[in-house]
Amino acid sequence: MLTNAPRGTKDILPDTVGDWNYVEGEIRELCRRFGYSEIRTPIFEHTELFQRGIGEGTDVVDKEMYTFTDRGDRSITLRPENTASAVRAYLQNKLYAESNLVKLFYIGSMFRYDRPQAGRMREFHQFGVEALGEANPAVDAEVILLAMSLLEGLGLKDLELSINSVGCPNCRSRYRTMLQDFFRDKLDDLCEDCRSRFDRSPLRILDCKKDSDKPYMADAPKITDCLCEECSGHFAKLQEYLTNAGISFQHDPRLVRGLDYYTKTAFEIKYPPLGAQSAVAGGGRYDGLIEEMGGSPTPAVGFATGLERLLLALESQNLLPEKSRSVDAYVVALGEAAQSEGFKLLNQLRSAGLSAAMDFAGRSMKAQMKQANKLGARYALILGDDEIAEGVVMLRSMSDSQQEKVAISGVIGKIKA
Ligand SMILES: [Zn+2]
Ligand SMILES: [Zn+2]
Repeated sequence: MLTNAPRGTKDILPDTVGDWNYVEGEIRELCRRFGYSEIRTPIFEHTELFQRGIGEGTDVVDKEMYTFTDRGDRSITLRPENTASAVRAYLQNKLYAESNLVKLFYIGSMFRYDRPQAGRMREFHQFGVEALGEANPAVDAEVILLAMSLLEGLGLKDLELSINSVGCPNCRSRYRTMLQDFFRDKLDDLCEDCRSRFDRSPLRILDCKKDSDKPYMADAPKITDCLCEECSGHFAKLQEYLTNAGISFQHDPRLVRGLDYYTKTAFEIKYPPLGAQSAVAGGGRYDGLIEEMGGSPTPAVGFATGLERLLLALESQNLLPEKSRSVDAYVVALGEAAQSEGFKLLNQLRSAGLSAAMDFAGRSMKAQMKQANKLGARYALILGDDEIAEGVVMLRSMSDSQQEKVAISGVIGKIKA
């Protein structure tokens, strides 16, 4: 146990951390262009925040949260997602007072007790954005564009964007009744989960992943057939914005989100080559959440994307940048005096902005040259007693093995040139 990380967690080792930094760098640059500011919320929150903010009756809250009682007898939960925390921070810090539209993004670890599989860990990483305070469908379009720009900018092609509207509480109560009427005489054929959803949240029946239930879904009534005037206008406007931005999309009437605070826009982006786990980003509008959490009624829209899955997609298409681990200079020191002089040189190289390394074990010339090679050094700087006496260093180009004596005082300038 001491040498095994807990199931569902993974070390990000030095040979892959560059991939993470690359993706996170692209995210930060894109968010800068779109005007989203980073927010970092605590890894753990009061359990009630997620019970209220995600909702009782969801798999996340009922089965997947890491919840424990702390030493002060409070119930604490490791965050399973970041929207509830972002809304809590928005309310607590009165960010709404600063602007009528607050645009936030986050990158971080989330925790869910789930069966680990490819691209799905118990500690996983998400990037997401939340735009709080504006009802205009232009913001929905902006959020979708940000997600598409990220994925396309990273080089993914043939992405599939699906959109839908899940309406508002008004149109949804009509839809619930229609769904219940439709499924009532089919209940015996549906899976157990769906039967328990029938009364509580019939919309979530449409989310069922069981193949045996799928045939029943095709003919089910569509939410977009019962949208109120405001919701259908919002949906039409969103499509207009997307079309104007040159984004292709399909309307998927089965794309629903079962919780009451979700309103209007729902969207999902798939990357089909990933197979069963092809959804790489998903989000939508949640005009009811901020009020649900004790704020005044405030419209909001956002999305999240799982970074593990995104990295899998990039890796499968060879879209991750080449790893460059090379150092500019490797100091090869032979003998005690050279060790001391070499250490001084090492630090001068670093102060001058070059990456530099040296051997601290007093190994042979051959072993040190081998190490220089392994690190992909551009130059080896060889120092022995003779060189020190002369005030020079042997500068050896690792690519063509050419070498020349250079005054110690001039070697940094020479490498930089
Ligand atoms: Zn409506
Ligand atoms: Zn089912």
